[in-house]
Amino acid sequence: MPRYSINASRLNQTLEELGHLGDSPGGMDRVAYSPEDIAGRDYTIKLMQQAGLDTRIDTAGNIIGRRAGSEDQRPAIALGSHTDTVPKGGKYDGALGVMAAIEVVLTLKDQGHQTRHPLEVISFTNEEGTRFHRWLVGSRSMSGLLEQDDLDAKDDNGHGLGPCLADIGGDISRIGEAVRSPGELAAYFELHIEQGPYLYQSGTPIGVVTGITGRAVFEVEIEGKANHAGTTPMSTRRDALVSAAKLVLAVQKMAAEQEICRVSTVGSIKAIPNAVNVIPGSASIGLEFRDTDMQALAAAEHELRRITDQTAVDDGVDVAVHRHRFTSSVPITPEMQALVAEASVNCGFDWEPLPSGAGHDAQAIAAIAPVAMVFVPSVDGISHSQEEYSTPEDCANGAQVLLELLLLADDRF
Ligand SMILES: [Zn+2]
Repeated sequence: MPRYSINASRLNQTLEELGHLGDSPGGMDRVAYSPEDIAGRDYTIKLMQQAGLDTRIDTAGNIIGRRAGSEDQRPAIALGSHTDTVPKGGKYDGALGVMAAIEVVLTLKDQGHQTRHPLEVISFTNEEGTRFHRWLVGSRSMSGLLEQDDLDAKDDNGHGLGPCLADIGGDISRIGEAVRSPGELAAYFELHIEQGPYLYQSGTPIGVVTGITGRAVFEVEIEGKANHAGTTPMSTRRDALVSAAKLVLAVQKMAAEQEICRVSTVGSIKAIPNAVNVIPGSASIGLEFRDTDMQALAAAEHELRRITDQTAVDDGVDVAVHRHRFTSSVPITPEMQALVAEASVNCGFDWEPLPSGAGHDAQAIAAIAPVAMVFVPSVDGISHSQEEYSTPEDCANGAQVLLELLLLADDRF
């Protein structure tokens, strides 16, 4: 039996209320720094204050609510996630982790239970990275992983990050002050929806996350020769789009058939001049590989370079491969996984281990603190969509495990 029961209807009510902010016909629009995101942040701050948390915004724009511990000199145990969404996203991605963290604090308050460690609820800003094409901005600011390139990034209209940060109470000129040192946090726990189909298919209520996927992103540019679509014989063409199409299929096979890495996706394609009566002289594709095993990502890059070299020879085109990003996978230690499993068992829930195929704030915070993640099922495995749904019962189960996990860590750390 868990020590205390969280209030499931209160949790689901806050999720519902947050889900009204930015709710639009196609899905949730709380893209970071938008008025809707700010409304969601204000709602979160109000809830944190009602839960008795001493609430502040750091220079990176993260919302941090703190509750004193009975041994307050100890490092804090932090619970959190994010409330920003992708455009036309869902109601649960990120939101569940923040609302559940606040519910955990409310339950402790109701029970008059003071933990030994100070507690922090952290709502990280700009996890999704939509506007400036840079993600995990709040959590990377806190863990010291933010780079100058992130600060210099412009949105699609050429605007910089500074004014956006000011709008949410941050300060780009002092963003370095948001960095926290290793040892300041005893642990960071994040509850999140799975965003994949595995728990839903198996009917298991709790997922113990074994690691967060690594990701390698590439752009491949192909140069052929533009020419007249009516007069140029098939045998003499150097059609860049045809070469790109071959690469799309080859990349898909790398995961689907060759099993070089867990998943491989070509997500964007451009043809120039993109006119129906011109043989495409140039084409480019944007693609990514994901795996928790970094050797698998290295093998995928090796294979990508092999097939692009081959395509250049076969098709008489020039091919350039640019590696844009190579995000390391983050393993979660066996000790932290065991703690989540123990918390699940104490709450009476079955659990299963699984890797996270999506990125999360926990992967950035892992640079400064031990982290663990708890997953709950996503109905039909759908996420980043209006159809994203986790049942009220699953959300409550996750919050219950989060509370038990915190209490176990508070006893032992
Ligand atoms: Zn998320």
